[in-house]
Amino acid sequence: SGGAIPKGPVVCSTVCGNPYAGLVSHLRAAWLSGKTRPLEYRLAQLEALGRFLEEKKQDILEATALDMGKPSFEAYFTEILLCKNELNNTLNNLSHWMKDEHVDKNLVTQLDSAFIRKDPYGVVLIIAPWNYPIHLFLVPLIGAIAAGNCVVVKPSEIAKNTERLVAEVLTCYLDSDCFAVVTAGVQETTRLLENKFDYIFFTGSPSVGRIVMTAAAKHLTPVTLELGGKNPCYVSDTCDVQNVARRVAWGRFFNAGQTCIAPDYILCSVEMQDKLMPALREAITEYFGPNPQESPDFARIVGDKQFRRVRALLCSGRVAIGGQTDEKERYIAPTVLADVQPCDPAMQEEIFGPILPIVVVADMDEAIDFINARPRPLAVYAFSCDSKVVNQVLEKTSSGCFCGNDTLMQVTLTSLPFGGIGNSGLGKYHGKFTFDTFSQHRGCLHRNMGLEALNSLRYPPYNQQKLGL
Ligand code: NAD
Repeated sequence: SGGAIPKGPVVCSTVCGNPYAGLVSHLRAAWLSGKTRPLEYRLAQLEALGRFLEEKKQDILEATALDMGKPSFEAYFTEILLCKNELNNTLNNLSHWMKDEHVDKNLVTQLDSAFIRKDPYGVVLIIAPWNYPIHLFLVPLIGAIAAGNCVVVKPSEIAKNTERLVAEVLTCYLDSDCFAVVTAGVQETTRLLENKFDYIFFTGSPSVGRIVMTAAAKHLTPVTLELGGKNPCYVSDTCDVQNVARRVAWGRFFNAGQTCIAPDYILCSVEMQDKLMPALREAITEYFGPNPQESPDFARIVGDKQFRRVRALLCSGRVAIGGQTDEKERYIAPTVLADVQPCDPAMQEEIFGPILPIVVVADMDEAIDFINARPRPLAVYAFSCDSKVVNQVLEKTSSGCFCGNDTLMQVTLTSLPFGGIGNSGLGKYHGKFTFDTFSQHRGCLHRNMGLEALNSLRYPPYNQQKLGL
C-alpha cells in the first residue's frame, strides 16, 4: 500500500508536476461533457455498485477479516447490509430528489419560473478511514454518484487487504471515465490534495480533518468532515441495569471498539457503577464466552501502532473486567475500567478500542457539566427509565447525533442525518442528506420575456412615481 497507483482512466503524470493532475483533469473533462447528469446514467452506476456488493460479498468479508479480524456478522451488517440499505433508498427516491423544486414567487415574477436546481458539484474527492473500510467510502460514493458528480475515492491504506480489493475491482464496475480509485499513503494524499476538487468528503481523525480543510481552503473547496472524538454515555440510577449493560457492551465492543460512534466512556453514580459491573461482566461473557480471545465474534486492533496506543490507555483507574492483551494477535480483551479520573490517559483521547472507562459523577447535572466542558462529541448516549432524564440530557448537551436507551442504532436509519459538530465534524450525510451534500442547490429564475411595461418600472430614469411614493 502507499504506492501512487491511480486506477481508472489513463493518467498523464506530468501535468503541472503533480502526479494526480492528469487524473483530475480527465475526470473534469468527463464531468463537463454532461455524461453524469442523466438520471439513467446515475441509476446504472448505482446498480453497478449493488452488483459490486453482491458479487464481491465474500471477498469483502475475507479482506476485512484479514485486516482486523472483523467478525463476518459485523462485516456483513455494516459493510454490506447498511450499504445496500442506503443504495436501495437512493435508487427508489433519486428521480424525486433530482426534480427541480419550485418555490414561492413575488408579484413581479408571477409569470416566471422560480426553482431550485440540484446541480452536481463536479469532481469530488472522498477520503475514507480503515475501521469500516467499505462502508465509509461507499455510502458517500452512493450520494456523490446520485448527485451526478465524478469521483476520486481514496480508501485507507491501513486496511490494506480491503484497499487492494477496492483498487482492483471497484473501477471494473463503474465507468472509468468518471470514477477512479487512488491508493495513497500520507505523502501521496498530500499531493492529491494539492489539486482543485469541487467538493471534499473526509472521514477520519480531527487532526487530519484540519489538514484536509486547510488544503481545501487554498481552493475555496467546500468540505464535509466526518471526525471522531469521545462519546459520553450517561447512565441514570433509574434504569434496567441488565439491558443497559447489554446495549452499552454491544456498542463498545462491536468491531473491538473501533467505531466512531461507540460509547467512549460511562458517566454514572458510584452506586450505579457497582450495579453495572456484574451486569457488564455477564454481558461480555454472554457475547464472547469465558475467553474472548477464542471468540470468532470479537475483532482485533487494525495495526501494531494502533495496538500499542490503545494498550497504553489501560493504566487508567482500576481494571475491573478484562485487561488481557496479546501483541502478536493485536488482541485486547473487552475491558472495563472503574473509578477512572478525568486526568487519566483513557480520558485524554478517543479510545477507539475495546476499553470502557467509568467515570463517577454525583448526578445528572454533573454529568451534563462534564460533557459540556469538553469538545462536542459525535454522539451522546443517555440511559434512563425516566424519559424526562433522557430528554434533559438531549436538551442540555450538544452533539452530532443522540440516542436514548441504546447505542449505535441511530445510524441504521437513512432518515436521520449523520455527522458531527465542532471537533467531531462538519456537515451531514445518510439517505437524502448525502444526495443534498453532494448537490449544489442552485437558485434559478427563468423569466418570461413579456410584460415589459411592468419591468420598465425598475429601469432608469428613476422617479418618485416608480417607487410608488
Ligand atoms: P486518519 O485521520 O488517520 O485517516 C483517515 C484518512 O486520511 C486515511 O485515508 C488516511 O490515508 C488519510 N490521511 C492520514 N493522514 C493524512 C495526512 N496527513 N494528509 C492527508 N491525508 C491523510 O483516521 P483513521 O485512523 O483512518 O480513522 C480513525 C478516526 O476516524 C477516528 O478518529 C474515528 O473516530 C474517525 N472516524 C469518524 C467517522 C465518522 O463518521 N465521523 C467514521 C469512522 C472513523
